[in-house]
Amino acid sequence: MTNSQPRILLVEDNELNRDMLTRRLARRGFSVEVAVDGEQALNHVRSAAPDLVLMDMSLPVLDGYETTLALKSDPSTAQIPIIALTAHAMADDEARCRDAGCDDYATKPTDLDDLVLKMHALLGTDRQ
Ligand code: MN
Repeated sequence: MTNSQPRILLVEDNELNRDMLTRRLARRGFSVEVAVDGEQALNHVRSAAPDLVLMDMSLPVLDGYETTLALKSDPSTAQIPIIALTAHAMADDEARCRDAGCDDYATKPTDLDDLVLKMHALLGTDRQ
């Protein structure tokens, strides 16, 4: 693959989940940076403009819904795709994520093959 590695921001407050997903995505060819709360995520996206954001919706400081709304209402960051990551099993949870502006949705625990397909679809890149 000749494309440069897609630059991903993983926003996740749980250290174990964050480290595990970072390693697994790196093995799939993604360059992964991390933020541990919504405010860090806003600052990172505004300064580093990643290609895609993976957003845990349950976060301290600013939750994933508030953070997504802020990014999607700012013209300088609105075009960056966001995939919601949530452990919630409630039927209306996907709708709530999409209402906040998320482009796609994945449940935790993460099915990596499914997540990577969704990432490539939003990035417009081929599956490796
Ligand atoms: Mn969380």
